[in-house]
Amino acid sequence: MHPLTCAANFHILSSMNSTTRDGAKLALALHGGAGTIPRAQLNAEREGAYRDGLQQALRRGWQALSDGGTALDAVEEVVREMEDNPLFNAGRGSVFTHNEKHEMDAAIMSGKDLQAGAVAAVSGIKNPITLARRVMEQTPHVLMCGSGAEEFAREAGFEIAPPEYFFSEFRYEQLMEARREDEVRLDHSSVKKFGTVGAVARDARGHLAAATSTGGMTNKRYGRVGDTAIIGAGTYADDKTCAISCTGVGEFFIRTVAAYDVACLMKYKGLTLDEACEQVVNVTLREMGGEGGLVAVDHAGNVSLPFNSEGMYRAWITSGSEVQIAIYHD
Ligand code: ASP
Repeated sequence: MHPLTCAANFHILSSMNSTTRDGAKLALALHGGAGTIPRAQLNAEREGAYRDGLQQALRRGWQALSDGGTALDAVEEVVREMEDNPLFNAGRGSVFTHNEKHEMDAAIMSGKDLQAGAVAAVSGIKNPITLARRVMEQTPHVLMCGSGAEEFAREAGFEIAPPEYFFSEFRYEQLMEARREDEVRLDHSSVKKFGTVGAVARDARGHLAAATSTGGMTNKRYGRVGDTAIIGAGTYADDKTCAISCTGVGEFFIRTVAAYDVACLMKYKGLTLDEACEQVVNVTLREMGGEGGLVAVDHAGNVSLPFNSEGMYRAWITSGSEVQIAIYHD
């Protein structure tokens, strides 16, 4: 993107109504995956496309929050926008499984009442995050998977998209490359990029929410489920502490119960959001070799976006502050 276009859009965003009548702090943070394309390989055109995608998603969620919408609505809006964008590994842009299918995971959680909904290994669903929300709101369950979740989607009136909707030459090439090297990979192969998408928000009533959606890992075995769909691993929200959405090698985030660990460190050890995130991402996960990052917001509207990979596509905004969009550490 041309710098001027970017600046103009920032202006529009930052001038949107970002404070509420009672002065409560709104906050929104999102990610488009950790472990970005190495800086040397990211040309201006591609960088502009990613930044546009992040900004568009942030704008949609911030509009919802500024209009008095709930944190839950805002995170769903953000994730839907990114699921529709083929650049990100979620919804339309999902990576291929080993047997050339798409299997997606998604989860959403409300910090107000600890309600949660998730779907795992679903195919043909354009917006898995909305299906996850339906599971939360219209069933007594938390997590539904595979054909049962797809049947529920059909009953709930979801349009089932054909495989072509999810096909892209680029993703197919990634699969061929991963197969050749017999590896399970996170989105971009040799240029290691984790493309999961996610968002966390704090609304005007002080409620928190988190949402995460992914196509998982290129060349994964069918039936493999990552951290995204696991409440407490890749997604968590509790008004008393924080809301978290993770990205990275899912197996590590499951084994460390990463998202819940951040909340626990705040709840039981009294750590600040930054301290708790730092401990989980740069100590616990790093020590195990768990590459990735997360976005987080706490009950006061502070945001934290740590990652231990080269980069993490991310954007955030809080009441009274400017829009921030970043990819690498600086
Ligand atoms: N965490 C996701 C998974 O393991 C991958 C990612 O973040 O890109 O399925």
